[in-house]
Amino acid sequence: MAQKYGSMANGAPNASGFTCLICETSPVSWTWSDAHGEAMCTKCGTPYQLIQRDEDKNIIDALPSINITEKWVPVLKQYWQETQRFTGLGAIMIWRDYPECDAGQEAVYRWVDEHPAVVPAS
Ligand SMILES: [Zn+2]
Repeated sequence: MAQKYGSMANGAPNASGFTCLICETSPVSWTWSDAHGEAMCTKCGTPYQLIQRDEDKNIIDALPSINITEKWVPVLKQYWQETQRFTGLGAIMIWRDYPECDAGQEAVYRWVDEHPAVVPAS
């Protein structure tokens, strides 16, 4: 991972001992994205919210929650099973720090375009 401090996500509360919902890696190794508190599984690139806050902005004790809309989770599982490719779907602002996310997102979007039957109803 190119992001300089990405691996520090592994020290976030509740980051350890988690099983990825997409690639089933356990425990997940994390790398931060550019969104506050969001990290990606280093194996498959699925983004999760590691640091979660309540309405008063206090950090809450919660397990990582996947930052993928529920209806797209089975699509990403199928993509992982077919390609074993890193998607890098975290929120990225400075692309030069994340060349693997640039390539991963482009590949997954292309795959979805080539597999229109997998696109969930809106
Ligand atoms: Zn994963």
